[in-house]
Amino acid sequence: MAVQRTFSIIKPDATKRNLTGKIIAKFEDAGLRVVASKRIQMSQAQAEGFYAVHKERPFFGELVEFMISEPVVVQVLEGEDAIAKNREVMGATNPADAAEGTIRKDFALSIGENSVHGSDAPETAAEEIKYFSSDDELVG
Ligand code: GDP
Repeated sequence: MAVQRTFSIIKPDATKRNLTGKIIAKFEDAGLRVVASKRIQMSQAQAEGFYAVHKERPFFGELVEFMISEPVVVQVLEGEDAIAKNREVMGATNPADAAEGTIRKDFALSIGENSVHGSDAPETAAEEIKYFSSDDELVG
């Protein structure tokens, strides 16, 4: 498997509880490198655009409100098979289903407040990286 880049967000429930460092340590321990990172306050328009694929879902409004409730850390992670590896380190969407040692098992509060986002495929990774980062922010 080739070296890939994937997009990651440390979500408001985690930034609020000061878990940023512990979460990044899990990525780094798994062999993923943070090649871009910034802490931002997401706007409502940014959150709605980012999660547009979910706009018909019943939880859409709640999801957008949550994502703008506190700052988030948007990141690009790089490594061998980074997209799948990141999803593995994150764990299942619902922390009740997440495997031992995953971020969501250790830190998530609920299916909504689940501490991290990670791209699910190469196309979405490329789109999501572009949505939040300019080329000169991908510093390696
Ligand atoms: P992911 O790829 O594992 O993040 O999961 P999905 O793409 O299915 O969902 C995107 C995000 O929407 C999840 O990470 C949750 O934050 C949120 N979400 C998913 N299902 C629910 C739900 O039933 N209730 C609420 N409040 N949020 C949800």
